[in-house]
Amino acid sequence: MDRTAVVKVGAAASASVCALFGGVVLAQYIVAKKKRAGKKTRIIEMMPQFEKTTVHMRDPERVEQIICGLIKGGASKLQIITDFDMTLSKFAVNGKRCPTCHNIIDNCKLVTEECRQKLLQLKNKYYPIEIDPNLTMEEKYPFMVEWYFKSHTLLVEQRIEKDKLPEVVRESDAALREGFEQFFDRLQQHNVPVFIFSAGLGDVLEEIIRQAGVYHPNVKVVSNFMDFDDNGVLKGFKGELIHVYNKHDGALRNTEYFKQLKEYCNIILMGDSLGDLSMADGAPNVENILKIGFLNDKVEERLDKYLDSYDIVLVKDETLEVPNAILQKVL
Ligand code: C5P
Ligand code: MG
Repeated sequence: MDRTAVVKVGAAASASVCALFGGVVLAQYIVAKKKRAGKKTRIIEMMPQFEKTTVHMRDPERVEQIICGLIKGGASKLQIITDFDMTLSKFAVNGKRCPTCHNIIDNCKLVTEECRQKLLQLKNKYYPIEIDPNLTMEEKYPFMVEWYFKSHTLLVEQRIEKDKLPEVVRESDAALREGFEQFFDRLQQHNVPVFIFSAGLGDVLEEIIRQAGVYHPNVKVVSNFMDFDDNGVLKGFKGELIHVYNKHDGALRNTEYFKQLKEYCNIILMGDSLGDLSMADGAPNVENILKIGFLNDKVEERLDKYLDSYDIVLVKDETLEVPNAILQKVL
């Protein structure tokens, strides 16, 4: 190479280094300018719902990445797996506790006062165990089985009639979280499968969502369903018991459902208990899963564990605003 060629190559090389350097400086300048101008560059920053004080995240960057994955996949890849009591339904209104599916029956006119008292005593004994931050799920498990066995036995003794359930639900204080219509309606419009996986009472749950006008064809309910005799009187419960801490087994029993949805590899999972985290265990080919946890009770003691397990933790938030905001971006 002669001297002029060497000079030319040298000049070209230094020009590209300059261009590269200039590019980097320019990019840094743009980012800094955007920051200065308060421009939002992340999806979660663009959703005002994430600014609510109820929203907690250990790793917002991870949440951002998952939501980007969900947006990329769109409606055709999305499915919802959700708990019911205290997740889709409210925990409290003006400081007053709302009923679970079980509580709706416990407190209805079909149950004698004596039985109601016994059910209340059971709740006072076992609910604190259910939410005890110092016990592991394994330690709680046998107590939950005991609670369900005893309370279901009491309900069977009451000879509850199937025909009366719609009235009982109508007269109850059952309440779905604010924004439930938008939640269910949008999911139906986009044909997104919704799996409601509940350790509550299936018959009561179905009646609640039917009366609320959101039991759309894309919704499947897996729960504890009552078994009635030929006269429509409660005689027991169908299938294997689902309690708060055996949802893993229930999920695996529903692998057929998840197999049919194997193309739906993006999941939004919603729950209020650490037991709800295993609800998606039967789903194959999961690409992105966003776990949203509602923390309603014993907040200080449990927040840390919830932040370890759920991507987004909604503390004492009686609305579906955050899930709805995410769905609006994805669908
Ligand atoms: O839908 P989900 O799985 O949350 O339903 C379980 C709920 O039912 C738990 O929150 C538990 O406290 C409640 N439960 C109840 N009475 C029972 C058994 C469970 O209120 N006898
Ligand atoms: Mg629940």
